[in-house]
Amino acid sequence: MSDCVFCKILAREIPSTTVFENGAVAAFLDVNPMEKGHVLVVPKRHWPTLADVPAGAAEREVRDALADAVRLLAKAALRAGWAGANVLQCNGEAAGQTVGHLHFHVIPRPAGGAVPPAFESGAARYADDAERAAVAEKLRAAVAAVLAEEAAAAAR
Ligand code: AMP
Ligand code: ZN
Repeated sequence: MSDCVFCKILAREIPSTTVFENGAVAAFLDVNPMEKGHVLVVPKRHWPTLADVPAGAAEREVRDALADAVRLLAKAALRAGWAGANVLQCNGEAAGQTVGHLHFHVIPRPAGGAVPPAFESGAARYADDAERAAVAEKLRAAVAAVLAEEAAAAAR
């Protein structure tokens, strides 16, 4: 994608501070970090969000490489001496996504820092048990629909 800032970084058209790279993914420092050591883990394929990642066997290696790189960078943050690490990933503007190339934030956390607001439990409340059950059912139905759609696509 010619107008994508992360594709440009991957093509080395604009600079970045890379901390890990293999054939499928790269991890570089966020230019505007939430915490020192804040890294973005990025697939080399241009997919805007998780919803755009193909489910098929052909992309399994890239999906595995992406998940493994997130695991690796979180583990490395702890190995490097940070006390904790958050993994954050945004899909769509409504979720706060500002760069339309799929990425995972790995954010090291020092001991004794405040828990970041985005990870605060209790920020939302269900009105009652019925609403909780309805939301769960909506998600179950959506999971079933996606699985059925992907199974049908795999069978074609
Ligand atoms: P998100 O809000 O999840 O889309 O996050 C996008 C992140 O990309 C932000 O944290 C930005 O600071 C970061 N970012 C934008 N441009 C660059 C760049 N050229 N190099 C490194 N990080 C960047
Ligand atoms: Zn891109």
